[in-house]
Amino acid sequence: MDIIVLRPGITEEEKGSIIKRLEGYNLKAQVSVGTERTIIGVIGDTARITEDEEESFSVMPGVEKVLRILKPFKVVSRDFKREDTVIDIKGNLIGGKRIHVMAGPCAVESEDMILAVANEVRRAGATFLRGGAFKPRTSPYSFQGLGEEGLKYLKEASEKTGLPIVTEIMDPRDIDLLIEYSDIIQIGARNMQNFRLLTEVGSYRKPVLLKRGLSATIKEFLMSAEYIMSSGNHNVILCERGIRTFETATRNTLDLSAVPVIKQLSHLPVVVDPSHGVGKWDLVPPMAKAAIAAGADGILIEVHPNPDQALSDGEQSLKPKVFKQLMEELRAVARAVNREL
Ligand code: PEP
Ligand code: MN
Repeated sequence: MDIIVLRPGITEEEKGSIIKRLEGYNLKAQVSVGTERTIIGVIGDTARITEDEEESFSVMPGVEKVLRILKPFKVVSRDFKREDTVIDIKGNLIGGKRIHVMAGPCAVESEDMILAVANEVRRAGATFLRGGAFKPRTSPYSFQGLGEEGLKYLKEASEKTGLPIVTEIMDPRDIDLLIEYSDIIQIGARNMQNFRLLTEVGSYRKPVLLKRGLSATIKEFLMSAEYIMSSGNHNVILCERGIRTFETATRNTLDLSAVPVIKQLSHLPVVVDPSHGVGKWDLVPPMAKAAIAAGADGILIEVHPNPDQALSDGEQSLKPKVFKQLMEELRAVARAVNREL
């Protein structure tokens, strides 16, 4: 038994006794109030409830029915919540009709640079500023990010432009900093299965952008989101950013079919990152357009004022002028699929 569907007229008292009974089994109840009905997601090892016990739950006052979910993820699942999840970040609704563009450099390199990029992308119509202060680099000798200093520059850029910030966390010990400086905490591909980090961000309410792991299946990706949500944080945005395949023409293989697949399986918003997906700036625009056509709720794009001098990911970064042109084209695609941008 994973889900308890409640009757429309259920009283608080009846609801309370269901929750109390679940707690007796050492299970947690996550109540989700939908437009049509309210359901309780049963969190914990539900396999311990026998069929007889499940039956007795189904006849408790206020219960319409109990359901078992065959999929390994629960709270993330569309079975748990039929309507799309919409996350409100400073008035920007992610998962609604409007498509959000999160743009900025791979890494914050200096105060001037992030301020300049923030102004450029805002003028072009981006609604979030991205930029890493803690960078997960393959080589320990590569630029690792400016750390807290970078977060301060991001905050300043955010205050000057009004753009909320998306920035990556790599270490649970930095959580207080990230809570203070970011509007969306990014968990990068390399940390998608850092379960300690997932439960840490799960214990706050700060929205999380969870990127798909380098070789993660969609099921593994959704299980990682389940870690965050089952810890209590339901503000999760999923990000497809390409996966490892045998193909070498692009940095990764951008799995755009993941967008409709995830939309079927889950109610969570989905963002696509074509920059890391393809790894080459001139392949970014076609894949960004395709992502919107495929149903993405947002796009994450790397923009750098001088890509040839970038300290990371210059090859895949768009110049502000190219980004501006792309935004125009994305607007047309968004209109064609009945979305706004
Ligand atoms: C990034 O967004 O700059 C980044 C490192 O992404 P990913 O974790 O997808 O590689
Ligand atoms: Mn990058």
